[in-house]
Amino acid sequence: MDKYDLIVVGMGPSSIFLAYELIQKKRAKNVLLIEEGKPVEKRYCPVEKKGKCMKCKPFCNITSGFSGAGAFSDGKLSLYNKEDEDIYVGGNLHKYIGVEKTKELIDYADNVYLKFGADKHLEGTEYKEEVNKLKKKAQKEDINLIGIPIRHLGTEKSHEIYKKIQDYLEENNIEMMYETVVEDLIIENGKVVGVKIHKAGEEENKKELLSKRVVLAVGRKGADWLAHMCEKYKIKTEPGAVDIGVRYELKDEVMKEVNKYLYEGKFIRKTISI
Ligand SMILES: Cc1cc2nc3c(=O)[nH]c(=O)nc-3n(C[C@H](O)[C@H](O)[C@H](O)COP(=O)(O)OP(=O)(O)OC[C@H]3O[C@@H](n4cnc5c(N)ncnc54)[C@H](O)[C@@H]3O)c2cc1C
Repeated sequence: MDKYDLIVVGMGPSSIFLAYELIQKKRAKNVLLIEEGKPVEKRYCPVEKKGKCMKCKPFCNITSGFSGAGAFSDGKLSLYNKEDEDIYVGGNLHKYIGVEKTKELIDYADNVYLKFGADKHLEGTEYKEEVNKLKKKAQKEDINLIGIPIRHLGTEKSHEIYKKIQDYLEENNIEMMYETVVEDLIIENGKVVGVKIHKAGEEENKKELLSKRVVLAVGRKGADWLAHMCEKYKIKTEPGAVDIGVRYELKDEVMKEVNKYLYEGKFIRKTISI
């Protein structure tokens, strides 16, 4: 039976960066990534031709495949302003490791994208003075206007970048198994020792893979499955916060200045605390 040092479930950005880091640290031996979807160059959604969702089986190419959930997005990397004391990206990371370390990690991740061909130009860095005026205006209404630099990859370019990263991982001996679903964990004496897999759409042909370590990086797509695994194997979990964003569509005359001076303006206002 196959025996790995590490099996990672999912091939979204979190797994990709894990594999990338292992390569940098020369610890990428005997590592297997398993993904339900296809390699990035084979991800195709029929909605472009058919005009509607065809509910593809056995998996959706939009949510599954190398590069994960955001593969068909506009590909924006929200960064930070050097002078800002607070940080508005990266979830709660700054609460665990501090703002400065978070900024260092954002630079590091951004540099990886640059290394693989992201455009050097940053959006949202002009008009500092005008943006500050708008921020002050917003503050008077108890609104925090967030204007941060954005590296805009674009959908096609991000596919190109992820293809280069995919090749890089392969060239550095990261094994990749596609169109394969991890359906269960193998637990012995309270420790994970492997995974049970089957080919996507072929649930009857099951196989077991052993590994010293298993990382589950299954994203939103695998969230229910992960919750089920944690419940089944009594793995302690902690509920995370859910941010709900509200999208307002307003006339240009209302948003004119924001649209002119900011590449992407985000407004944060605490409404009620529960
Ligand atoms: C429409 C959209 C637009 C976005 N735009 C941006 C953006 O512009 N910039 C940005 O930074 N972020 C963006 N995001 C967010 C970003 O995509 C996510 O934060 C990121 O993909 C999370 O990475 P992940 O590795 O945790 O999970 P995911 O990317 O979700 O990857 C998880 C992978 O695991 C696989 N998987 C799940 N369960 C199993 C299983 N049991 N067996 C095998 N494989 C499994 C899935 O198929 C999936 O490919 C966007 C997200 C969406 C949905």
